[in-house]
Amino acid sequence: MTIAFHPDIATLMAFSAGTLEEPYTVVVATHLAMCEACREQVKRTDLIGGALLASEPEAEMVPGALDRLLAAADSDDVAQPIIVPDTGVPAPIAHYLPRGLDGVRWRWSGPGVAVADLPSSSAAKGRLMLLRVEAGRKVPEHGHGGQELTLILQGAYRDRFGRFGAGDIADHDEDVEHQPIAEPGEDCICLVAVDAKLSFRSRLVRTLQPLFGL
Ligand SMILES: [Zn+2]
Repeated sequence: MTIAFHPDIATLMAFSAGTLEEPYTVVVATHLAMCEACREQVKRTDLIGGALLASEPEAEMVPGALDRLLAAADSDDVAQPIIVPDTGVPAPIAHYLPRGLDGVRWRWSGPGVAVADLPSSSAAKGRLMLLRVEAGRKVPEHGHGGQELTLILQGAYRDRFGRFGAGDIADHDEDVEHQPIAEPGEDCICLVAVDAKLSFRSRLVRTLQPLFGL
């Protein structure tokens, strides 16, 4: 797996500090399970963050998110991808997907597009979901009401930023508009965290949005 797109450093720092909202934490943890470079990066950030906290006696220690991830994988070896063998999915989302990606119960969400919400705790801000785009299909052009973090689990898509394949993460803020197109051959399945409803450009799509459940 060659990973070309990683989370912003700000996102990794927030993850490391434990200040990222729950749905984003799950997406970043899942990327880390697939990406050795970011595991190394977060390990360094954790060390820096730990040193900063230690120099401030008043500050409360935030439990390291990386520690939890590595503990879950029962391994301290950052070089190993952390994939659960029975399901073929990364450890941080394995409990949502006991039968892997084949066992997902999809909900139709427009032509060629399906979604499956993954439950978050009641305190969580934002939404975590799986998005499946049929091979060769376009996702309607949209902007974002807030940060959107998308991790490709299977297949690939292209947009004006390039080609996103398995393990790649698209870390977009509210100013970004894009129109992903799934590559032919295999359905593209992504893990997505959003903190607001997506806003579609076309009035027709906006009208239909509640129906699509997006
Ligand atoms: Zn990475």
